Amino acid sequence: MSALKYVNSHMDDLISDLQTLIRQPSVSAKNEGIEECSMLVQKILKRTGIKSEILRLGKEVAPIVYGEIRSKQNPSRTLMFYNHYDVQPAEPFELWDSHPFSGTRKGNKIFGRGASDDKGELITRIKAVEAYLKTAKDVPCNIKFVIEGEEEIGSAHIEEYLKKYKQKFSCDGVIWEFGYVDAKNRPIIGLGMKGLLFVELSVKESVRDAHSSLAVLIKNPAWRLIEAVKTLRSSDGRILIKDWYKEVTPLSKNDLKIIHDEPFDEQVFKKEFGIKSFVGDKKALDAKKALVGDPTCNIAGFVSGYTGEGAKTVLPGEALVKIDFRLVPKMDPKRQVSRLRNHLKSKGFSDVKIKVFHGEAAARTASSHPFVAQVKDAADRVFGRSILNVSNAGTGPMHPFVKVLGAPCISIGSTYMFSRIHSPNEFARVDLLKKTTKCMCMIMHNFGTNQ
Ligand SMILES: [Zn+2]
Repeated sequence: MSALKYVNSHMDDLISDLQTLIRQPSVSAKNEGIEECSMLVQKILKRTGIKSEILRLGKEVAPIVYGEIRSKQNPSRTLMFYNHYDVQPAEPFELWDSHPFSGTRKGNKIFGRGASDDKGELITRIKAVEAYLKTAKDVPCNIKFVIEGEEEIGSAHIEEYLKKYKQKFSCDGVIWEFGYVDAKNRPIIGLGMKGLLFVELSVKESVRDAHSSLAVLIKNPAWRLIEAVKTLRSSDGRILIKDWYKEVTPLSKNDLKIIHDEPFDEQVFKKEFGIKSFVGDKKALDAKKALVGDPTCNIAGFVSGYTGEGAKTVLPGEALVKIDFRLVPKMDPKRQVSRLRNHLKSKGFSDVKIKVFHGEAAARTASSHPFVAQVKDAADRVFGRSILNVSNAGTGPMHPFVKVLGAPCISIGSTYMFSRIHSPNEFARVDLLKKTTKCMCMIMHNFGTNQ
């Protein structure tokens, strides 16, 4: 395929465009360089021959860079690339070996904030389109780019954007903003992400901390909160809140086969964290199944009383716990909150206050969807082998895409799993950028030719 040859002979251009993008800081957390970077991305799209525009929701919201190119040979199929141009803050600067916004190349690596997450991923997709435009004067299917600027601060407006521009964004498939490549150079094809419900539970008993001799009279809010939290989950990880699992559907036969085939080294994993056993004493296969399909109830932090050095005989006035629940498909965060509320009430804990910080539903594309086979075939051809993953154990804003656009979403990309994203000395690997660009070409080809 001449597009693939083009990628081989134009890697210098790709690297130089990536360096240009890295040199434009775009830290959403500090609103630094966001406007400038959106204009730079638009410029690169335009130069590539992709029609583009800046979309806005208002002055306070980072703009979306939208790009579109229609296919002459197959205008009935549309593939979307979802990416983001914002990056995490680069701090602490002193831990970087080169300036975080310099895009320094050392051998096979390009260093810089955003090198992998997500400017490297973005550039592979733009260059894949360019390879087709330069060699075939056409793309195998319509291509749409949705490139947002608030991903690293939680994508707070992505759903609003998707709703407002539903027609413009309509498509038949979405390639997610990132994808990992493992230590054996196998890309991981992700078909979903878990949802998240983050809450804070608190108990306030007295107006101030007291001398602990008064423990015979004054109720201790830490005990109270421990008793309440204890009712949420059994020690094997099962959540005890009534109807918590009501809508959850079991993993399909196909999902189970994928999970079975997924590599997972139980011993290496345990060694990495210095642990002897898993929750509920799970063995390898059950551990993999749980990562994909089990909801969780995790204590993220528990604060009460004195936790400093030495002893202090104090009776705290209040206690607070932060809990994150990972959700799986069909669990509605709002409905789960009311179930949590009812549970605490029914167990006699009406005094426990609930504050909800964040709710996001899970998303998953069926492993039997034809899009999955098209992406897998592309990855296998370019990388030699790839790994399917039914759902990432983490959370991302995939649900609004699936819900609003009604399109399957798949994550695949160039990010080496140890490329230090969000940390000092983040890098992208040139060999993986090249392979991934070719893989994106193959995905467009497969997507355009197979229905
Ligand atoms: Zn990130």
